[in-house]
Amino acid sequence: MNDTNKIILKIKDLEVLYATRMGLVKAVDKVDLELKRGQTLGLVGESGCGKSTLGFSILRLIPPPGRIIGGEIIFDSADLVKKTEKEMRNIRGKRISMIFQDPMTCLNPLMRIGDHIVETILTHEKKLNKKDAIKIAEDLVVKLGISKLRLDDYPHQFSGGMRQRAMISLALALNSDLIIADEPTTSLDVIVEAQILDLLKELRSSYKLTIILITHNMGVVSELVDRIAIMYAGKIVEIADCFPLFEKPLHPYTVGLLKSIPNISLEKQELEIMPGSPPDLINLPTGCRFHPRCKNVMKKCSLYEPPLKEVKENHLVRCWLY
Ligand code: SF4
Repeated sequence: MNDTNKIILKIKDLEVLYATRMGLVKAVDKVDLELKRGQTLGLVGESGCGKSTLGFSILRLIPPPGRIIGGEIIFDSADLVKKTEKEMRNIRGKRISMIFQDPMTCLNPLMRIGDHIVETILTHEKKLNKKDAIKIAEDLVVKLGISKLRLDDYPHQFSGGMRQRAMISLALALNSDLIIADEPTTSLDVIVEAQILDLLKELRSSYKLTIILITHNMGVVSELVDRIAIMYAGKIVEIADCFPLFEKPLHPYTVGLLKSIPNISLEKQELEIMPGSPPDLINLPTGCRFHPRCKNVMKKCSLYEPPLKEVKENHLVRCWLY
C-alpha cells in the first residue's frame, strides 16, 4: 500500500436521515471529512452523536429506516453514494472492512474461526487455492497473537479479546485499503482493551493501515490516531491533528470531554462531569447545538449556528468564540 499522503476518502456535505415514528432525525448533518492513505482518524463523540451512522454510511450499510439524502463519499476517486448494491458488495470487505464492537455480529457461530478467515480470503482472492489461503490464515493469526491450533475453534470458544483479534485478522486478510473500527474495544475489560489498542497501533505501522476509529472514549484515541474529529449532535464541531487537539482543544465540548478523562500520571485529579446530555435530534436547540450545555455560551450562540472554520493550520472548530 503506497501513495501515502494521497487522499483516499473525501466526504462532502454528507446527510443521513432516519424517518422515525417520532419524526425525522438527521443523524449526520452536512459532514465534511478527509482521510489520507496511511492515516488514522479518530471519530469521537457521545453515543447518539452520529459517529457510527457516519461509519456505516461509508459502507452504505445504514440500518433501515436510515438513508443518505445528500452529499458525496469519494473513495479512491469514485462516489460510493452513486454505486449500485452489487458494486458496493465488491467494495465491502475487499476495499473497506469494518471491525464491529461485538465481533459475534459478524462471526457465524457454526463456523470455525479458521474457515471464516480462509473463506474470506478465497472469496476475494479468486486466484488462490485453499492450501495457500490456509497458510495465509495461519501466518496472520500467529502475528495477531493467536496459536494456529485455535483456528479449529468456534467463535464461542474464543474470549472477547480473541474474537476481536480474529475480526482484525479478517480485515488484514483482505488487505483492505480502509478499515473502519466501530468501538472495537468497548465490550472488553481494560487490560484486554489495552492489548487490542497496542495491537492496532503496531499493525497500523507495520501494515501502513488507513483506519477510522469510532469511539466515545477520548482516552482510546490519544495514542492511536493522527487526527481527531469530534462529533456533536450530527455535526463535526472540531477537527485537528491529535497532538494540538489534546494540547489545546478549542471547542468547549472537546474541552469538557478531555476534562472527563482520568490521568493516571496525576496523583490527585478532579474529574469534571459535563453537565446535561446530548440533545434530542428530533428537537434540536436553535443556533449552536451545544449551547444548552456550554459554559461559555453567549447571546448569539442560541440564535445563529456557527460555521466550521479553520482557526489554525489544519485545526477547524465550530464555535462563535473563534
Ligand atoms: Fe459554546 Fe457558543 Fe461556542 Fe456553542 S458557539 S460552543 S455555545 S461558545
